[in-house]
Amino acid sequence: MDSNGQPRPSVTVSFEPRFCANHVVDLTAGCSFGCVYCPFAAIGARLRGVSRPTALDLSRLNELTPPPSVFLSPASDAFAPQAIESTHTLLSYLLSRGTTVGIVTKGIVPERTLALLADYRPQVEGVAVGVTSLDDHRNTVLEPGCPPARRRLDNIDRLAARGLPAALRLDPLFPVLDDRPGALTALVAEAARRGASAVTATYVFAWGRYLRRLQREPLLAESCRLLTERAPMEGGTAFSVPLARKLETYGFLAEVASEHGLWFNTCGCKDLRIRESGRVFASCRNVLFLKPLDGGPTRTGARPVPGAEARAAPRVDRPAWRLPPPVRDTTRP
Ligand code: SF4
Repeated sequence: MDSNGQPRPSVTVSFEPRFCANHVVDLTAGCSFGCVYCPFAAIGARLRGVSRPTALDLSRLNELTPPPSVFLSPASDAFAPQAIESTHTLLSYLLSRGTTVGIVTKGIVPERTLALLADYRPQVEGVAVGVTSLDDHRNTVLEPGCPPARRRLDNIDRLAARGLPAALRLDPLFPVLDDRPGALTALVAEAARRGASAVTATYVFAWGRYLRRLQREPLLAESCRLLTERAPMEGGTAFSVPLARKLETYGFLAEVASEHGLWFNTCGCKDLRIRESGRVFASCRNVLFLKPLDGGPTRTGARPVPGAEARAAPRVDRPAWRLPPPVRDTTRP
């Protein structure tokens, strides 16, 4: 029961084609981190019939069929305060039954959950830490419930210290506010110094009421004026920055990441043209994890990513593939 005496919806494991064809689990309906740009938490809450962030019921955990691989979480954060206990319980259940896990978080991974992940290190695809900017004012306005950026980045040190794969995730990137080369370079350098093995980034996209909410935020006025292009995505379209700006920024980030020995990728589901361009690696999955060096089948049963095989190389080397020449966004002043 929730605080209003209503029965809480149950935790479920579902297959989601848009998350690189992976199984996904939310531990809360909605998300108390309350990021103003996030449509998914609101949609997740509405679908489960709750009006405020609510911890889902995990009492029937033993009835969940462990999938080969799982992503936490598509419409919530596994380390938001309401989710922390359930996340640990779920991970204990799934890891001990052979499931491999990938996590994206803007929260803080608790020590005991880090220890649990380290006990099952070969089954951890990676933990991506969401920080797009080191600007505290920007983050307080746009991500009001999240811990400060540098505390989130501390996750990378703690993961790396336990030999767990950590990535920096810049998502969403707001044009002008977040995509200046100096700020991106500093953030990638910091992630590399802390022990990350990869960087992933995706520009903001929005539609309907979610776009109007962004347009009402004064800090985002200039950014929103640049969301002029309808981008084709998995499952629909949404307004985003012009393709040329994406290709230029992602190409730049790939170069900077490569200079630090890191991988770069972006989410291909969020703009199908990026995937088709073949200019940057367009999957949120950890290729090195999915593709064993012996060339055997993937461990997780996830959909192999076209071109990934040719690009896979040990983390200690610079990415072996040659980056294409940079794209110049001629619409940018
Ligand atoms: S932490 Fe993630 S799921 Fe939660 S509100 Fe922010 S973007 Fe949405």
